[in-house]
Amino acid sequence: MPNITLPDGSVKSFDNAVSAYDVAASIGAGLAKAAVAAKVDGVQRDIYLPIERDAKLEILTLKNPEGLEIMRHTLTAQVLARALKELFPDVKLAIGPTIENGFYYDISSPHKISTDDFPKIEQKMAEIIAEAKPVKREMVSRSEAINIFKNRGEHFKVDIIENAAVDDTTEAGKISIYKQGDGSFVDLCRGPHVENLNKIPLAFKLTKVSGAYWRADANNEQLQRIYGTAWADKKALDAYLNMVEEAEKRDHRKIGRELKLFHLQEEAVGQVFWHEAGWTIYQTLQNYIAKKIRDDGYIEVKTPILVDRKLWEDSGHWSKFKENMFISESDEEHILAIKPMNCPCHVQIFKQEPVSYKALPIRMAEFGMCHRNEPSGGLHGLMRVRGFTQDDAHIFCMEEQIEGEVVRFCKLLLEVYTELGFDKVRVKFSDRPENRAGTDETWDKAENALKVAVAATGLEYTLNPGEGAFYGPKLEFVLTDAIGRDWQCGTLQVDFVLPERLDANYIGSDDKKHRPVMLHRAILGSFERFIGILIEQYSGKFPLWLAPKQVAICNISEGQNDYAAEVKKALDKAGIRAFVDLRNEKISYKIREHMLGRVPVIFTVGGKEVENRTVNLRRLGSDENITSSLEDAINTLLYEINLKKDLPFTEIKNKK
Ligand code: ZN
Repeated sequence: MPNITLPDGSVKSFDNAVSAYDVAASIGAGLAKAAVAAKVDGVQRDIYLPIERDAKLEILTLKNPEGLEIMRHTLTAQVLARALKELFPDVKLAIGPTIENGFYYDISSPHKISTDDFPKIEQKMAEIIAEAKPVKREMVSRSEAINIFKNRGEHFKVDIIENAAVDDTTEAGKISIYKQGDGSFVDLCRGPHVENLNKIPLAFKLTKVSGAYWRADANNEQLQRIYGTAWADKKALDAYLNMVEEAEKRDHRKIGRELKLFHLQEEAVGQVFWHEAGWTIYQTLQNYIAKKIRDDGYIEVKTPILVDRKLWEDSGHWSKFKENMFISESDEEHILAIKPMNCPCHVQIFKQEPVSYKALPIRMAEFGMCHRNEPSGGLHGLMRVRGFTQDDAHIFCMEEQIEGEVVRFCKLLLEVYTELGFDKVRVKFSDRPENRAGTDETWDKAENALKVAVAATGLEYTLNPGEGAFYGPKLEFVLTDAIGRDWQCGTLQVDFVLPERLDANYIGSDDKKHRPVMLHRAILGSFERFIGILIEQYSGKFPLWLAPKQVAICNISEGQNDYAAEVKKALDKAGIRAFVDLRNEKISYKIREHMLGRVPVIFTVGGKEVENRTVNLRRLGSDENITSSLEDAINTLLYEINLKKDLPFTEIKNKK
């Protein structure tokens, strides 16, 4: 007589063993129809399997990320695999897992699959789905499983079973296989799968084909890997495909090359060579953040990059983080590490002189250059590098100051994101993990402080239970870019442990020593990655205040050379980044070229402009021209730069 506890806490009792499908049906026909699989006591299971004991049950549908993943899994393992076998009978099936947003299948075949084959394969897949065959699990012994796949000529499957570790077998050493309908198609799989192929929506697309090796070993047979994407409905599929297309156009590596912002090369893997234009953006962003935090009561410091092993041992990084650290040696038998983070160094500054409670909080910031030995396979342009500069800061405070400081930080972070053009921000809140330092009482205080602070910002937040750091709870700030992609950038972590390990103290009102709490926080995360995000956000068309070259001054003929130089001087004096183009080319040619170079403003000067001391002004992306006095033009541009916002063309005419 199982009692089934549902996610909302309600309990349903049944007289006999019951399947998740039956439970869904007892709740409503709509849920039963939408159900693709179940989660029983936290473990994913096929929806038709009986539940015999009391259990917690969650019904998974395509609205749920896990349900979506199970559908993608069935699509690749049961539908794509069968379609390939039917179209190309020599195909041997290797593995077909899900990946982010989709799936792939590795096959071996004398036929070289190309994208030209995709329409035919997709058509076949749709036909297989339309057959609406049930997919059923069967438990067989290891030898039976080997026989089944030997008879079918699937040597990769046989290899998998022969090498299967114990945890690949279930229910007393048996192996699960999934049969489709009459059993004409069988796959080796841990499952679960959707129970009928007709539960797979016609919202999928094959995307690319590439090479792979069996078991990722170059000594093994080479395979063909066919990728696809699948969604809950056609609308979601189209949105995803549009996003991918747009993302390719905006790829920061491509735009970085076109605009000569930066380059990467083999001799400095994962580290950036900033060129003049890219470095201008970098410095503009850094100066902006420096002013923001200075105005918010931070002090700025600079600490060494090479630091003796001893400090990393004391801080705990040597035992916990060593694999990610670059190690160096000095001639004095000292082992040095290139800092992967700034925190222990900031504690050293804090400890240099006695600190009274009256001096707290101390907000200590550093644009700290850090290095982490990331695996080369994971590196990606500016988005994932080995050498990066954090907009890092540590706030040393008393426990009762945590809440106020967190509220203050969230406010600052939102201001910065908005000014940089991101208005959609959400928060992930990770609370106490099982393995943790600090008392429950301190954790209660810290978690409550974070909750109150997030509530005060009005931001939407999701809870990541148990995902906090061992030293304290944390907030992660995720922003959504112009094409709907999410980027986790900002972070705030409460830390009770490092001040303890490195023996940091302040003198309280009772004249006794107390431990400060440390808040680790960053807004951008790293300048490198954030600039990568900005390049893609703006497609290289930076707002005026961030653009590496803000104004191009073009003459029409030689007669205006002197005046063009005069205009440049006036812009220089105003601190506007301008350059002169005196080439003997048609003005339309010059304008087109600077627009392609994403220069936000173009000044044209001809005979009339010299005579009237004016400029003819044109904005990137507009074919409208206005003539304005040089002084007015400079004032409107300065107004926009200070506001950090491009204004509509007509609006700026009147702003001074
Ligand atoms: Zn830190």
